[in-house]
Amino acid sequence: MKKKRAVAKEVYSLSDLQNWHDVVPPIRLGVFGDPVEHSLSPQMQNAALKHCKIDMQYARFHISPNELRDAIDLIRKMEFVGVNLTIPHKVAALKLLDTPDENVKRVGAVNVIKVEGGKLRGFNTDGRGFARGVREEFSVDLRDLRVMILGAGGAARAIALQCAKENCERLVITNRSFEKAQKLADELRDFFAGPKVLGPVARLQAISLEEAAIRFQIGHIDLVVNATPLGLNRGDPSPIPARLLAPHVMVYDTIYSAERTPLVSAAIEAGARAANGLSMLLHQGALAFEIWFQREAPIEVMRTAML
Ligand code: NAP
Repeated sequence: MKKKRAVAKEVYSLSDLQNWHDVVPPIRLGVFGDPVEHSLSPQMQNAALKHCKIDMQYARFHISPNELRDAIDLIRKMEFVGVNLTIPHKVAALKLLDTPDENVKRVGAVNVIKVEGGKLRGFNTDGRGFARGVREEFSVDLRDLRVMILGAGGAARAIALQCAKENCERLVITNRSFEKAQKLADELRDFFAGPKVLGPVARLQAISLEEAAIRFQIGHIDLVVNATPLGLNRGDPSPIPARLLAPHVMVYDTIYSAERTPLVSAAIEAGARAANGLSMLLHQGALAFEIWFQREAPIEVMRTAML
């Protein structure tokens, strides 16, 4: 290892990892993504580390898909505590783990790696982070909700599994590629075999992302969740139009941009309650901290640091 630098960089690369110049306190945690520049995780995790007097730092790493294997090999050798994975690595990193936990296997995606004795353990905290976020925003538990998820990718899979595990009243999955929604629903079928029947509609359903199908469902739904990236970029449309939303519905957009997303705006326009994904981000990060350090995360310190 070379001489220590005084100040950490905003974003590190694979080549930085290969020619490592550590800083004070040393970097032993981070987030791998592409893009990663706008990740809020360093703010939140560094505040937690400082508060808990843990003498290390958390950094951003711009790692492209073809660099992931090398980057993960390096953090194993450098005895990092662990890393978070974000777009586009959550699925690709699965095959690089030594021990994925049950949740990771079922979701098919990993967002937290812990390095332990040179081995890589994988976890997925998105589902539990989502459940805590919903409870915080709307003061309600998933088990009491009829949920519609827009999307069937990594985030949607984690959220759908969480809803299933918590025995939500209904789960409707809708996705641009209908087959993926159908496949996800099929995988969760066992969770919904119970007798919690509410009127004429099925407890578990995959539907096409079409206006008529969504319009029919919305009267039997309490919570609409956006788990697509629509809303990340300026000019994106809402994943479903405002005219489909109604005042009785709660809307949770997993996107956490500073500005209102088109879906959150649509919900407010329709008189519905709405929240963005900051609370999910906070809680998935707090759960990651607890996995790494086996101690309670200082939630309020982390929340303040994100604002
Ligand atoms: P992903 O695996 O790539 O899945 C994306 C999903 O969105 C797929 O179902 C895809 O449908 C759908 N989709 C993509 N573009 C679309 C479009 N133009 N119109 C309609 N549907 C579209 O991504 P992910 O990892 O699940 O992440 C999704 C979003 O969740 C991210 O943008 C991120 O902001 C958010 N997220 C937030 C948190 C948090 O802590 N708040 C955590 C994780 C993720 P197809 O199957 O048809 O391709």
